[in-house]
Amino acid sequence: MRKVAIYGKGGIGKSTTTQNTVAGLSEMDKKVMIVGCDPKADATRLMLGGMAQKTVLDTLREEGEDVDLDDVMKVGFNSVRCVESGGPEPGVGCAGRGIITSINLLESLGAYDPEQELDYVFYDVLGDVVCGGFAMPIREGKAEEIYIVLSGEMMAMYAANNISKGIRKFAESGKVRLGGVICNSRNVDREQDLIEAFAKKLGTQMIYFVPRDNMVQKAEIHRKTVIDYEPTHIQADHYRNLAKAIDGNDMFVIPSPMEQEELEALLMEYGLYD
Ligand code: ADP
Ligand code: MG
Repeated sequence: MRKVAIYGKGGIGKSTTTQNTVAGLSEMDKKVMIVGCDPKADATRLMLGGMAQKTVLDTLREEGEDVDLDDVMKVGFNSVRCVESGGPEPGVGCAGRGIITSINLLESLGAYDPEQELDYVFYDVLGDVVCGGFAMPIREGKAEEIYIVLSGEMMAMYAANNISKGIRKFAESGKVRLGGVICNSRNVDREQDLIEAFAKKLGTQMIYFVPRDNMVQKAEIHRKTVIDYEPTHIQADHYRNLAKAIDGNDMFVIPSPMEQEELEALLMEYGLYD
């Protein structure tokens, strides 16, 4: 089973990209589980047709320790398994705790057992906060293969660089590696070249360039992935290509993050901020 985590700053497109890519993998007959690790708890909405999914933390709060796998794991589009870890009430407690609790519970309920025949688990993790809890899947070896979603906007690249620092820190003592960055385009000038150069500096690859397309939001309003809502649309093929690229990926590295000055110099070099 490949243990993948998708990181990136809030709003960059992690949940959309993850679910669409997983939809692509499911079409390739891969068995996948998605574990949402963002307190927003919307990481599986497009898989479940918007069905309100009770989070692991809410289930534990309401039902105590006596929980079955079916209480926290729902089956969505193409048999993809869906879990939302949830989070504490806003402003109270550490959001990272939900992730730890969820993964432990899923393990004890047998969600990862060989009988499940999972090919992949995808963790969808908010990653612009420098917080130990969010690094947990990496730290504890729950995720071994990381993809960072970013765009050519400075804050997205800044977050991606920070996440790389976290990966490097834990890679030295564990198995976690960076598998690449996924550019989720914001139509920034020279974005593809910029992100390719950025990826090279980190010692990794831009594994795919996902164009910006309103069809993504149109499908989202209908609570579906593009692959589910409009399977013949070009954007659906982009996600299928990304799924294939991940499935065939063999470039796993310990990243070499940049100094802030170096990152700024790169942005200048591409003429975006002069
Ligand atoms: P995150 O999970 O990183 O917080 P989301 O996946 O929720 O971000 O995406 C934020 C918004 O951006 C959503 O409304 C989504 O539909 C939109 N979006 C994401 N990727 C694309 C894209 N390639 N084209 C158009 N809209 C996109
Ligand atoms: Mg999200």
